[in-house]
Amino acid sequence: MKISSEEEMINCGREFAKTVKAPQVIELIGDVGAGKTTFVRGLAEGLGIKTPVTSPSFTISKEYAYDGGRLVHYDFYRLPDPGLMAEDLDEAISDPHAIVLVEWANSVENILPANTKRIEIKYNDDGTREVTL
Ligand code: ADP
Ligand code: MG
Repeated sequence: MKISSEEEMINCGREFAKTVKAPQVIELIGDVGAGKTTFVRGLAEGLGIKTPVTSPSFTISKEYAYDGGRLVHYDFYRLPDPGLMAEDLDEAISDPHAIVLVEWANSVENILPANTKRIEIKYNDDGTREVTL
């Protein structure tokens, strides 16, 4: 799917929210600035979350409540060795009411469940993005 603007990426996340139900783990794959966090912002909006999603960067994880569950958003970019955060992630994965989003999941790939959904965002030379669900 070709995405030409930030607004379209948010819409893509919003639409995706209609198809996702806890428990679900979603891995987001793509370079820095591809639009992974922007997609999560739309997904959160689609779930009815009013708090604007921002990058978890320094805290590694951020959590948002929605009606009936919680969205937990991880970004392991700054944490090549996940340590205790792997246990934190494992706890979120075990929660039947959690939708878990993971950016830069390479170091925790082994604890992601078999039914993890993978969304890939590719940055094109013209600034558009290619999203593969
Ligand atoms: P990531 O989490 O993948 O590092 P972000 O979502 O934080 O990326 O940042 C993407 C940046 O690119 C935002 O500043 C956004 O405004 C900008 N942007 C420009 N065009 C697009 C697009 N088509 N889709 C998503 N983001 C876009
Ligand atoms: Mg990000």
